[in-house]
Amino acid sequence: MNLIFMGPPGAGKGTQARQVAVKYGIPQLSTGDMLRSAVKAGSEVGLKAKAAMESGGLVTDDIVIGIIGDRIGESDCASGFILDGFPRTVAQAEALEKLLAERSMKIDSVIDITADNEALVARITGRSTCSKCGEGYHKQHKAPAKDGVCDKCGGALATRADDNEETVRNRLEVYEAQTAPVIGFYKDSGSFKTVDGMQNMDDVFASLCNILG
Ligand code: AMP
Repeated sequence: MNLIFMGPPGAGKGTQARQVAVKYGIPQLSTGDMLRSAVKAGSEVGLKAKAAMESGGLVTDDIVIGIIGDRIGESDCASGFILDGFPRTVAQAEALEKLLAERSMKIDSVIDITADNEALVARITGRSTCSKCGEGYHKQHKAPAKDGVCDKCGGALATRADDNEETVRNRLEVYEAQTAPVIGFYKDSGSFKTVDGMQNMDDVFASLCNILG
């Protein structure tokens, strides 16, 4: 099962993709996570991506297309994958079609998780993630028992450098200008579905499972 999760920053793509990946036994391919690892490692890709990521802009198409092209060729993607945060431009969507055709693969479902902009700003600026196990927290809706410490594994909670209000607003503008047009690319394909990301997380997950069967 090859899936694309779309939606503005903070809509819940990453959280939901993580759960869907576990349930269906397929990997979550998050270009954001891959780029953050590259930045942390100081690799050539990381050095090229850093400035765009810090400002909330997009990393160039050739970099992310290269990363995804390599990744979907790995053996754990043979029985399926979830693309989380890719494609983010129409050029990336076109390149993905080519990459899949070369491997005789196709996308089974494109799911757009929708949400309201102001809610997104509040959601993103309050979130943190355990640097050890990846569990997500939010200062209003899911605060840890001890400040800065993961309830599950005791790991340190980290906040993303681009999760501040100014950068978030820029990311939302970039989404409208460059990523929302990707919806038009898939809308008439028959595999396109929408899920209301304003529901609570369990209901969003249930809606996704309903679609995926
Ligand atoms: P995310 O974790 O998906 O919110 O991505 C964090 C940042 O990584 C984005 O704001 C972009 O700077 C960069 N990024 C992630 N995926 C892509 C992509 N498909 N195309 C361009 N830039 C990306």
